[in-house]
Amino acid sequence: YWEKMRLVAEVLKAVEGPIYIATHVDPDGDAIGSSLGLYRALKALGKEAYWVADPPRFLRFLPKEEEYSDPVEKLPVGATLVALDSAEPSRVVGVPVEGFVINIDHHGTNPRFGHIAVVDPSKAATAQMVKDLIDLLGVEWTAEIATPVLTGILTDTGNFRFANTTPEVLRVAAELLGYGVKLAELTDRLQFRPPSYFRLMGKVLSTVAFHFGGLLVTAHLPEDAGAEEDSDDFVGLIRYVEGSVVSVFLRKREEGVKVSIRSRGGVSAQNIALKLGGGGHVPAAGATLKGLDLDQAYERVLEAVAEELRRAGYL
Ligand code: 5GP
Ligand code: MN
Ligand code: MN
Repeated sequence: YWEKMRLVAEVLKAVEGPIYIATHVDPDGDAIGSSLGLYRALKALGKEAYWVADPPRFLRFLPKEEEYSDPVEKLPVGATLVALDSAEPSRVVGVPVEGFVINIDHHGTNPRFGHIAVVDPSKAATAQMVKDLIDLLGVEWTAEIATPVLTGILTDTGNFRFANTTPEVLRVAAELLGYGVKLAELTDRLQFRPPSYFRLMGKVLSTVAFHFGGLLVTAHLPEDAGAEEDSDDFVGLIRYVEGSVVSVFLRKREEGVKVSIRSRGGVSAQNIALKLGGGGHVPAAGATLKGLDLDQAYERVLEAVAEELRRAGYL
């Protein structure tokens, strides 16, 4: 890990051409936080860097207007691309995966694409890896750089509640706090949702269903509910049903049905996602079931979950 990360730091320090920083589609706090943090560090180094990302509403307080770059269809010759938190090249959005590609990610299912791939599933967040990279770049830490990096760690650890919260994660977070991050203000802002979200929550909760004697809890975005953008974390709401070991939230989109999967108790959300053509981490994973409607997607999900529950000895 350190050898590869040092190589990435050396390459980035030596680069004279443009550096594009991009992340995955449907970016979460880690995607936005890790990419914006690295972008700010590279700008501090005087690099010609471009941050190509489209954050969801709840993260739009992080970047300043002038930090956004438009998506590009073709990278200039000699460009470097840093893909962050992107489990597959096809999940990178806003830029083509070309030029000299550096892949920094913590998804075990990452196929290690790119010219340099630093993939470490033992890391809680890609932002934790970016923290190491920024240290190696020798950039002076400021609250501006530390805030998005800590954001990635906060969101991917569920505010230090998930099993990926190791002593090392807390040490890194403590160090970042020391650079002047306003923690209470940051966590508050990360939880802000528009009034429409709370109305939507009511509609989503009315779709909650239990399967396999309550081992699986599901919910979906009702088709007439709108506000897809506000549906980012409903799976986080239903996953706390007592007695459940898997929760799945489904939402219909143009290209198919996007499913978010969470698990505990020896059940792997990752296994379920892989069966559905997606990927992710053992406790949190996702997939998009292309060309299916909601009913068909439910069927596929129930099959895949049943198989995993059997493997884990629940059925
Ligand atoms: P979420 O349910 O929050 O969208 O995603 C949970 C985790 O699974 C995240 O780490 C996310 O990157 C990953 N993930 C979600 N959808 C997909 C997918 O379609 N393919 C892959 N490989 N990973 C996914
Ligand atoms: Mn992510
Ligand atoms: Mn992540």
